[in-house]
Amino acid sequence: MAEATLQAKDFKGEVHPDWCPGCGDFGVINILQRALAEKGLQQHQVAVISGIGCSSNLPGFMNTYGMHTLHGRSLPNAQGFKLANTDMTVVACGGDGDGYGIGVGHLVHALRRNIDMTYIVMNNSIYGLTTGQTSPTSGFGMKTKSTPFGNPEVPLNPITMALGSGASFVARAFSGNPKQAVEIYKAAIEHKGFALVDTFSPCVTFNKVNTAQFYRENTYDMNAEGHDKSDWNKAMEIANRDTYGDRIATGIFYQNERPCYEAEEKDTLATALVNHDLGVSAVQAEDLKARFR
Ligand code: SF4
Ligand code: MG
Repeated sequence: MAEATLQAKDFKGEVHPDWCPGCGDFGVINILQRALAEKGLQQHQVAVISGIGCSSNLPGFMNTYGMHTLHGRSLPNAQGFKLANTDMTVVACGGDGDGYGIGVGHLVHALRRNIDMTYIVMNNSIYGLTTGQTSPTSGFGMKTKSTPFGNPEVPLNPITMALGSGASFVARAFSGNPKQAVEIYKAAIEHKGFALVDTFSPCVTFNKVNTAQFYRENTYDMNAEGHDKSDWNKAMEIANRDTYGDRIATGIFYQNERPCYEAEEKDTLATALVNHDLGVSAVQAEDLKARFR
């Protein structure tokens, strides 16, 4: 029987998000649900896997498979999930503290490894869940609970970091621009490889600097202005210049078509790992599983 075409609302879970009213993460979840529906996916074909933080609660509000894992550990779990279920659409998600702080080592290797999945970082330049400390993307000099005299560190630039780590797809979206963001998320899901989508998602409660109004006034669509997403050098130049200034680029910075990890490991992964023959009897398999319970 043919499966029905789903709407964005079909990807909404039974639990309503408990984010603060006005949090950018509401925009992100709506954008993701629209993108999944417009890609023609069914709920059982999708897994959303997160770390820890306000935004990492997102899988609990989705009507898909999901995992809410450990701080900074969305990517090891999501990559393992994808290799075991190569025919599924896997979306990892979390915040800037989770992905660019404690989880950044995993991110660098995921970028160069290039497993076919999408990673959405809800970047609000603050630690929201722990009530407002400086994060890896907080601006230099920004006053927060943990830096009352101003942040003495320069912010991490996730776009140049990704470009320098062998990324095959790097983009930036804004939760307050759903029209553009849905197209970026769909392109990221379509991309045959690891797709990083840094997404400005304002924290209305603890970051009074990087507000929705700030991003509305200061972002522009680089692709609409003619940026060639195959040009790595230009992407690097724009990312260096237009990340924390008055004019901030959004859109797809860079995309190439190098083979994804699964294509390089096709002998092992032609069959999803969950369907591999273990080469042991049913009794032996039960015995093995019992040892890990
Ligand atoms: Fe969103 Fe900030 Fe509230 Fe967390 S604290 S739910 S990031 S607005
Ligand atoms: Mg954050």
